[in-house]
Amino acid sequence: MEKLEGWASPQPATELEPALFRRKLMSWYRSHARALPWRGTSDPYRIWVSEVMLQQTRVAAVIEHYEGFLRRFPTILALALAGEHDVLAAWSGLGYYRRARLLHKAAQFIVKERRGVLPRTAAELRTLPGIGEYTCAAIASIAFGESVAVVDGNVERVLLRLTGRAASGTAASRSFLQQQAGALVPRRRLDGRGNAAGDHNQAMMELGATICLPRAPLCLHCPVFAMCRTRGEHIATPRTVQRSRPAAYLLSLRKRGTVTEVLLEKRAEDLSLMPGMYELPPLSQDAVESREPILRLRHAITNTNYYVQIYAPRGPRDRALRRAVPAAREDLRWVRTGRLSSLPLTGLARKVLRRLDVMDVSPVRMPEPEEIE
Ligand code: SF4
Repeated sequence: MEKLEGWASPQPATELEPALFRRKLMSWYRSHARALPWRGTSDPYRIWVSEVMLQQTRVAAVIEHYEGFLRRFPTILALALAGEHDVLAAWSGLGYYRRARLLHKAAQFIVKERRGVLPRTAAELRTLPGIGEYTCAAIASIAFGESVAVVDGNVERVLLRLTGRAASGTAASRSFLQQQAGALVPRRRLDGRGNAAGDHNQAMMELGATICLPRAPLCLHCPVFAMCRTRGEHIATPRTVQRSRPAAYLLSLRKRGTVTEVLLEKRAEDLSLMPGMYELPPLSQDAVESREPILRLRHAITNTNYYVQIYAPRGPRDRALRRAVPAAREDLRWVRTGRLSSLPLTGLARKVLRRLDVMDVSPVRMPEPEEIE
């Protein structure tokens, strides 16, 4: 085993003994693993979708979207044949929409070039467009039992703390972690209870997600406490500084007979963030000066907290807000509220429209009757 570097540990140093480590980890995992909808399947497509959704996204948010997405696109072929608009609509609310576009493109490539079948090894999976190292290892081990280590953020944290090595983010540090993780993965495909490598990888990620937490690890509940060099005396990665930004949007509704429509803006296709998705039209701070919003909420995107305020015209004669967003613009579109769920909305737009009962509620409740044009 590589000589350990980093700060001196307050605990007696203990070499990680792979067989003992795996036994302790798996015995804990079998009795403590959370029942998640993607656990217990060996369908590579379902595993692929879950792993892509889980990247930088809360488990609760993935649970909300996972089954619905698979009902809509139950196979690689169904996903490949779908329009990007529909894929983004099903992804709406999960954020990081580039993942959905890449998943869609990779499905099209697999159908075109590989008769719709995912390769079985991490090395072959790595040759596919849009599937990174982490996802390859997860599919190869969880779906096909390949003895390859999955190293995500949770596993990195667990290994750094176990070994007492300081986090540095360098290539040498990444290679150290990969080597450590690889040394712990079982070599056998099956262990009599199931998929040894896949279960081990899931157990490592589960340990990081539920016990070896980023800020306050629950060391007294940790199955590998005895083998850990730091036992909570780790150096925490400094918290990323959260920025705050105000943001204002227009809620404009109109009636067409019995149908209610809402004005939405399509984001430009060349934007780096959420290109081509629909949102409520943004308003400048000048346009909303001395007005009262109908809704205030906080919306976090990576390290920015947006303090969002939603404004609606005060009545049919209130033209000022509408002048700030001239409805004749090409990127603006009136959308029937009944069609909102099939549109690729930004997560914030979905949150606001739900909060104001404009979406998924029939009949639609308006904020104020006189606010309808
Ligand atoms: S003992 Fe604590 S710091 Fe060490 S691996 Fe377990 S939870 Fe993490």
